[in-house]
Amino acid sequence: MDETGKKTFNVFFGSSNYNINENTAKFIEKLFDINWNNIIWDGNVNIPYAGVDGELQKILLNCINIENISFDPMDRLKHSIGKSSIEILDSRLSVLPKIVDAVVYPDYNEVYNLLKTLKKENIHITVYGGGTSVTGGLISKYSGNGRTISIDTSRFKKIELNDGMAICGSGFTGRELEEILNTKGKTMGNFPESFNYSTVGGWISTMESGQESNQYGDIENMVCSVELARSDGLFSDPYLPRFSSGISVKDVAMGSEGKCGIILNAGIKVHDLPEKRHYYSYFFKSFKDGVKSIREMRKFPTILRLSDETETEFLFLSQDNSMVKNIFDKYLSLRNVNKGSLLILINNNNGFKKPVNGIYSGKTIAKIWENTRYERPYFGNVLWKHGLVPDTLETSVSWENIIKLYDEAILTFNNSIKNLNITGIIMSHISHFYINGCAIYFTFIIKTDKTDDLIKIRKNMVNTFISNGGSITHHHGLGKYFEEFAGNNAMFINSLRDDVFDK
Ligand SMILES: Cc1cc2nc3c(=O)[nH]c(=O)nc-3n(C[C@H](O)[C@H](O)[C@H](O)COP(=O)(O)OP(=O)(O)OC[C@H]3O[C@@H](n4cnc5c(N)ncnc54)[C@H](O)[C@@H]3O)c2cc1C
Repeated sequence: MDETGKKTFNVFFGSSNYNINENTAKFIEKLFDINWNNIIWDGNVNIPYAGVDGELQKILLNCINIENISFDPMDRLKHSIGKSSIEILDSRLSVLPKIVDAVVYPDYNEVYNLLKTLKKENIHITVYGGGTSVTGGLISKYSGNGRTISIDTSRFKKIELNDGMAICGSGFTGRELEEILNTKGKTMGNFPESFNYSTVGGWISTMESGQESNQYGDIENMVCSVELARSDGLFSDPYLPRFSSGISVKDVAMGSEGKCGIILNAGIKVHDLPEKRHYYSYFFKSFKDGVKSIREMRKFPTILRLSDETETEFLFLSQDNSMVKNIFDKYLSLRNVNKGSLLILINNNNGFKKPVNGIYSGKTIAKIWENTRYERPYFGNVLWKHGLVPDTLETSVSWENIIKLYDEAILTFNNSIKNLNITGIIMSHISHFYINGCAIYFTFIIKTDKTDDLIKIRKNMVNTFISNGGSITHHHGLGKYFEEFAGNNAMFINSLRDDVFDK
């Protein structure tokens, strides 16, 4: 029970009141042979009893005010679990990770002394931003008998806006930061799907990438400077557009995933808000035709999203807007085909040229996509409620290898579910575009009660990415679950580690 008397904690991402339409429900019901009226799980887990550790409290009180130290069981559980499907499935099966012994909320003046003290007392730390890690990034790895506490970054909220740069605290969520910038007519241009919850510190430490990266770049292109607190000191880059003074603090912080220090502040580039946005959607005969057409573009619009045939079908199935449904049906009947591949194209300020071989299908689909872009993950909660397991994996790949990797990944998924004797469906879209390749994102749904099944599928998929020239991941980071694939790179990152961090 937590301090307020609550006995359960909900592990779902955001709202669990998302509704899906009848067509989609029927499709899923039939595919997985389930009864839609049966709700298997509401996302709640029991909060384990956890008392106050008096000795730990005494140590913490030397560095931080009592109101910013929490032994509340709910708080401790929340700071020990992220949003990966492995963690959520484990939670459904009542398997909880190691729970941190306390949560602290330091401010800028307290953090260095806190780190020094924790190091001296041999207390380990995990760092918590928005808690949206999908790679087990919040799970304490320390297996000894010692204590681990979570440092929450939500009090790091300094903001200073200069010409073209914002110096901002790592604890801002995407929405909080963007709302402040927008009042000044500015934007950072960083819009991950987790925008409402994920933080500046989390973005830097996982090497996140937003949905408008074609125009604004990935996080490493947006950040100029970083301030980092470690147990051996406070380190800071100059707040300048560029500098050449050895390995920068930014270099160490980028992708450090809470191992090398706590990111306190970052200098980020800010841009004028776009004056106009242009919306388009196109169909291609097949996903492969779409890939061919996009590859030839060479210059990419702000947002480009090419869905494969399965994802396209699924997107239209889940549309209640009859006008949009008609667009797809009309396309199919006019072409006399039963499949198509949807391209959403949005560009800031100027119109964008039509992709070769794309059949124009209006603005509406792109507008609807944009209006619902942060709500879509709530669909996952509906699936969890019905006993299903949704998951996503993504990789970066060259244009030469994209089709081979796509085909092999789909084959690997289908072979994996066949071998495990479970039902599943997989779909995909290309999400981020570069002159030399792209990021491809796979969404799959399976029905299983075994976390091992999910782990096997994920491993098979990532091995397929790597053997077909892809990366382990394009923007989710390594966390706990991908570290094993990282080989020498993981050793290199660990050599920069500050050993008070529990990773
Ligand atoms: C529904 C959903 C959609 C998502 N969409 C995207 C997307 O579009 N693009 C994308 O790239 N990712 C996406 N993600 C993944 C996730 O949002 C990112 O990895 C994000 O960067 C994590 O930020 P966070 O603040 O939630 O960090 P957390 O989950 O709290 O932490 C993640 C890691 O960063 C470390 N960390 C956090 N803050 C700090 C800090 N200040 N200093 C040092 N270390 C720190 C933690 O210790 C941990 O290792 C999505 C996740 C979900 C659940």
